Amino acid sequence: MDDNRRNPSSGDEVALRRIQRLSLHLYNPSEPHSGGLSLLPCRAKRNLSPSVESLSEYMRGPHREIQARIFEFFQSRPDLQTPVEISMAEHRQLCMRQMTALVREAGIRPFRYLVENPSAYFAIAEAVGGVDISLGIKMGVQFSLWGGSVINLGTKKHKEKYFDGIDNLDYPGCFAMTELHHGSNVQALQTTATFDPITDEFVINTPNDGAIKWWIGNAAVHGKFASVFARLILPLQGKGGKSADMGIHAFIVPIRDLETHALLPGVEIHDCGHKVGLNGVDNGALRFSHVRVPRDNLLNRFGDVSRDGKYTSSLPTVNKRFAATLGELVGGRVGLAYSSVGVLKIAVTIAVRYSLLRQQFGPPRKPEVSVLDYQSQQHRLMPMLASTYAFHFATQYLVDKYSEMKKTNDDQVIGDVHALSAGLKSYVTSYTARSISTCRESCGGHGYAAVNRFGILRNDHDIFQTFEGDNTVLLQQVAGDLLKRYQEKFKGGTLTMTWNYLRESMSSYLSQPNPVTARWEGEDHLRDPKFQLDAFRYRTSRLLQSVAARLQKHSKTLGSFGAWNRCLNHLLTLAESHIESVVLAKFIEAVQNCPDANTREVLKLVCDLYALDRIWKDIGTYRNVDYVAPNKAKAIHKLTDYLSFQVRGVARELVDAFDLPDLVIRAPIGMASEAYEQYTQHVGF
Ligand SMILES: Cc1cc2nc3c(=O)[nH]c(=O)nc-3n(C[C@H](O)[C@H](O)[C@H](O)COP(=O)(O)OP(=O)(O)OC[C@H]3O[C@@H](n4cnc5c(N)ncnc54)[C@H](O)[C@@H]3O)c2cc1C
Repeated sequence: MDDNRRNPSSGDEVALRRIQRLSLHLYNPSEPHSGGLSLLPCRAKRNLSPSVESLSEYMRGPHREIQARIFEFFQSRPDLQTPVEISMAEHRQLCMRQMTALVREAGIRPFRYLVENPSAYFAIAEAVGGVDISLGIKMGVQFSLWGGSVINLGTKKHKEKYFDGIDNLDYPGCFAMTELHHGSNVQALQTTATFDPITDEFVINTPNDGAIKWWIGNAAVHGKFASVFARLILPLQGKGGKSADMGIHAFIVPIRDLETHALLPGVEIHDCGHKVGLNGVDNGALRFSHVRVPRDNLLNRFGDVSRDGKYTSSLPTVNKRFAATLGELVGGRVGLAYSSVGVLKIAVTIAVRYSLLRQQFGPPRKPEVSVLDYQSQQHRLMPMLASTYAFHFATQYLVDKYSEMKKTNDDQVIGDVHALSAGLKSYVTSYTARSISTCRESCGGHGYAAVNRFGILRNDHDIFQTFEGDNTVLLQQVAGDLLKRYQEKFKGGTLTMTWNYLRESMSSYLSQPNPVTARWEGEDHLRDPKFQLDAFRYRTSRLLQSVAARLQKHSKTLGSFGAWNRCLNHLLTLAESHIESVVLAKFIEAVQNCPDANTREVLKLVCDLYALDRIWKDIGTYRNVDYVAPNKAKAIHKLTDYLSFQVRGVARELVDAFDLPDLVIRAPIGMASEAYEQYTQHVGF
């Protein structure tokens, strides 16, 4: 029993109670979680005391050791650290030196990990991206794109011939898919690879300027090989003795001499020049004028040409071969989704640490308060911090599934990974791109200093939304996949893992919302994972059912292309909604699986904020169908603000648990301690 209760009539106690009563008049008593107190130093209703170590341990995953080795290596080599101001030419050379030193001096072989232990490879990619995003991308081009195309689209002979050179960087290479006129629409590429049965070679040719390979990473300066995506043409094999176009295939094309580095005959390369970001990567444009390569240079896993010019494939149609070819390239998307979360962690850490340090205004005659005590700043940053945690667990799951897919080659897992990598890549990279700007704004003028990183992070990361598949195009793949599963469901077909909830609960989600639960507004109910997940899934199921009906209706008059275009925004919303359902499900699982009760409690708080903030942001959808009544909508809003306020109370621990070394944060204002001192020193005081 506390002292107040023991001495109810003491003078102090009466005064205290009187003050408490009066203070209630300042706030609306129907708003138990009012953020009105947020200008005062914040205290959660019940103090949480997270252990950074335990939280960090749980987040870390199995490959922290290799990440630590990378950080230590670059920490010990100031000559390999990227300065804030650097010319494009110097940055490109530095990036190449960084990658070479990583492989040849630090002894870290990303390519071997990619093949043998993909989840370790993605951890390496995240860490080197923390050192310099250009380095992360250059490494991705070398190992995941150029190396990955050789390993995944080629066969044993290619692996034997090229593996070591790719691994030890004797064979720096490019991935030459995009052309000037065609990026997203890969099936429309125009470069040709025509078989010459007399010399037993393929002739690689750029038929017009629109077919010039464009944006090709590693091509402008360093690449010696390229895997070139081209239409395979077989003379005399088509109808009536005409040429047959067998569709898009990949070919290994040497582009520079291994000794002299001079361009090889028939290869013309120009520099794509200075970019908005990622200037450590040398993107180039390539034209091929009847370049001859041996027949063996066809990456022939999904289709081959015999000595006498006959085509064979285990896959019956051009479309199936195309899908299989592109399907092998999903690793790049997995890596981008994962690395994008890494970038988000850096931006959020800088913004949160600075917002805790920075003090402005405050109550009359009282000390100034941290800007993170302002409700508006909490509203900007706390749901973002919660989303970072949510994406961390979701992309970790994606990486695990990718590793499982590589091991088992199981059809269900393949289907799941394809759609999930497309969806998470687009959802997460778009979110991160938007958030970096918000983080910059949250840090006021000092956020604008280049040394404080937001400009570089924003510019380097921005293109994550476009390469490895434009986000709008990828989301349509997710929507298409959902529709396919939806149709299969009614035919009794199987559903891949992440989609299972549709089978289990579609009918319940599609019945009329329950008018009683629509009014429940208690905190226990709103923080119940079942309510949250049901709400997310309900929205996805509704969107899926309604867009399927609309497509059916419009296709009668507009045809399938026109109908799809008429419903395009609806389809994109559906895909995002589904991805959010998966992200929440994985976050809830991560909370439930956390072994330490204290850490679990903190994660639960963060997860609740993620879920309720998302529901509140889409409250119009829920209100429109009376899934939530007006009183419940209001309660969700209040609770979201209150949870932001609570998360603010543990924000420092939450960002510290990302465990990012100063080498990665680098921004003086984002340092864990002495931030102002480091900042003043930086400008020369
Ligand atoms: C820095 C950088 C590095 C790159 N590195 C490489 C590389 O190493 N190798 C390589 O092969 N390529 C590379 N690329 C190319 C990149 O993969 C393409 O830019 C990307 O695939 C998008 O294609 P696009 O530029 O033709 O865009 P487009 O497809 O022309 O898109 C333009 C706009 O149209 C929209 N759009 C397109 N199709 C649809 C649709 N069906 N529905 C709705 N909207 C649509 C898009 O959303 C976008 O807003 C790189 C690009 C850059 C900028």
